Amino acid sequence: MIVVLKPHAAAEQVAGFCRELESMGFQINDSVGSDTHILGLIGDTKALSESWVLANPVVETCRRVSEPYKKANRKFHPDDTVVDVAGHKIGGGHFVVMSGPCSVESREQITYVAQRVQAAGASILRGGAFKPRTSPYSFQGLRAEGLEMLQHARTVTGQPIVTELMSAEHIPLFEEAGVDMIQIGARNMQNFELLKAVGKLQTPVLLKRGLSATLEELVMSAEYIMAEGNPNVVLCERGIRTFETSMRNTLDISAVPMLKKMTHLPVVIDPSHAAGIAFMVPALAKAAVAVGADGLMIETHNDPAKAKSDGAQSLTPDQFDTLMATIRPELEFFGMQLN
Ligand code: PEP
Ligand code: MN
Repeated sequence: MIVVLKPHAAAEQVAGFCRELESMGFQINDSVGSDTHILGLIGDTKALSESWVLANPVVETCRRVSEPYKKANRKFHPDDTVVDVAGHKIGGGHFVVMSGPCSVESREQITYVAQRVQAAGASILRGGAFKPRTSPYSFQGLRAEGLEMLQHARTVTGQPIVTELMSAEHIPLFEEAGVDMIQIGARNMQNFELLKAVGKLQTPVLLKRGLSATLEELVMSAEYIMAEGNPNVVLCERGIRTFETSMRNTLDISAVPMLKKMTHLPVVIDPSHAAGIAFMVPALAKAAVAVGADGLMIETHNDPAKAKSDGAQSLTPDQFDTLMATIRPELEFFGMQLN
């Protein structure tokens, strides 16, 4: 249930009402917006009578929420959430570009790509150290060594780093490396124990949509993270499986406005994994800006032909420069701030 409070309701009366609700076993999601103050009640509200709630002098109105997601629900939190990744804001008009290679391959490679994508306007460096691969015989990533290389690149450029976590066992390693944003990959979107584990941290999480997950399933996965206490979740549409075979996946561009209606969380697009082919990435990136996404994740590699993973979809640094030059005026046109 959401309870909209009267504007200028006295703080002590609101606190008393909250205490009463808490004593009845409800968890309260308090959202103070620019002109609304909403209490989102989490728990079994079936037995809670609306007339009892409405009778309280601080209450303007109340409404039952039928969706299974609560903390992620836009009805609980009408304003856009802005997630801050080491000073770089995502959401609420702030647009962020994350770029780097699919896999970290060497110290020189990650540092070079970091410098190039940063010069072009990417503020967050991506790079996989632990790689989810379809085949156990494919390159699995440089693991802890890869994290160390990402840290090195960060000391050179100052860019925060986002990298994929595949197992809760590696959280201490990630904490030691000071990973600025934890990526939960498409294949782990419904690894609920992993979601609960990152929910216990405060590190921002980039949650990628599963290969064939519905939007409600994606939002429920965000709910798992938020229910544990981590509100810093960014959703990522990265293409879904359809009957189409001419590209790796199908970018579900409709996901952006629908997710923004369903939730208050920032939504970014990864056109690289959606397309699977480099030539399509700039066009899809432009579409992402136009549809209202809050950011992009783009794979850029120093030498895509020799990449250890996802070379076919990776841009060269020069191609990334061109992409950024194209989207800058587009962002300006739509009133988005690149940061
Ligand atoms: C990646 O970002 O390199 C990756 C493996 O992404 P996804 O989980 O979307 O396939
Ligand atoms: Mn990849």
